[in-house]
Amino acid sequence: MTVAMTGPDGLPPLRDVIARHGIAARKALGQNFLLDLNLTARIARAAGDLSGTDVLEVGPGPGGLTRALLAAGARRVVAVERDPRCLGALAEVAARWPGRLEVVEGDALAVDAAALLGRPAAVVANLPYNVGTELLVRWLRVDWPPWWSGLTLMFQREVAERVVAAPGSGAYGRLGVLAGWRTTARILFDVPPQAFAPPPKVTSSVVSLTPRPEPLAPAPLEALERVTAAAFGQRRKMLRQALKPLGVDPLALLEAAGIDPTRRAETLDVAAFCALARAYAARA
Ligand code: SAM
Repeated sequence: MTVAMTGPDGLPPLRDVIARHGIAARKALGQNFLLDLNLTARIARAAGDLSGTDVLEVGPGPGGLTRALLAAGARRVVAVERDPRCLGALAEVAARWPGRLEVVEGDALAVDAAALLGRPAAVVANLPYNVGTELLVRWLRVDWPPWWSGLTLMFQREVAERVVAAPGSGAYGRLGVLAGWRTTARILFDVPPQAFAPPPKVTSSVVSLTPRPEPLAPAPLEALERVTAAAFGQRRKMLRQALKPLGVDPLALLEAAGIDPTRRAETLDVAAFCALARAYAARA
């Protein structure tokens, strides 16, 4: 008699799942799978107490993190996966936790997954590298306060550093201003390339973003994005020069915001960018 090997959740090890369903990793889909169920459990724990919470997962792949989220007690997981080869494996996960996993086949950039979630809703994902930043920016742009209670996301370390960057750091830019304006963001831990199959070239990091009830300072979103795009578009230049593409007098703008025109973008904190955005919105 052969005895099927099972993991702690009663499902087979991920390596077997991937082999049985023929899910050879595809680079074009950003497929680097986590096989270590201790690590996926750690990521699920990093999202806090998930009991009674709906979770959006983007890119469940063969379901390692999905299994951890369900085992951690998520009320329901809505998982958006683009690769139809993963659907068989995910159906097995759904059968293990009846009524608690909804798999949506499609491109996360095109699916309105938030509409499928109850509240509170958390987002937990090992994001595909090619769309990770775009998705994060979308989640940060929603009407505030947001529909999500927290984001726990795996990125390449370099992207994670941009998300949490403070003024004065080379990683500080548009992403750090937007994230710092609306959330408190921090890197929780790094994950080495060897933890993935196949291993990517770079280290990854798990980032936690908690929404501020109110953004750090008042500012119209669109104006904030325009001034940060201009300021960091020429980050080595003084602001009096870098802000010219905005089409309003940079000196008047900087004076209204109380900012020295010889400063450079990376020295401005989020509150200063908000002041600049308010001044710009009043003139544009
Ligand atoms: N969550 C799994 C894990 O941790 O092992 C897989 C993570 S892998 C880095 C990224 C996953 O996102 C892959 O399963 C890939 O097929 C999927 N994916 C890539 N682009 C996507 C998109 N635009 N929308 C939804 N899923 C996508």
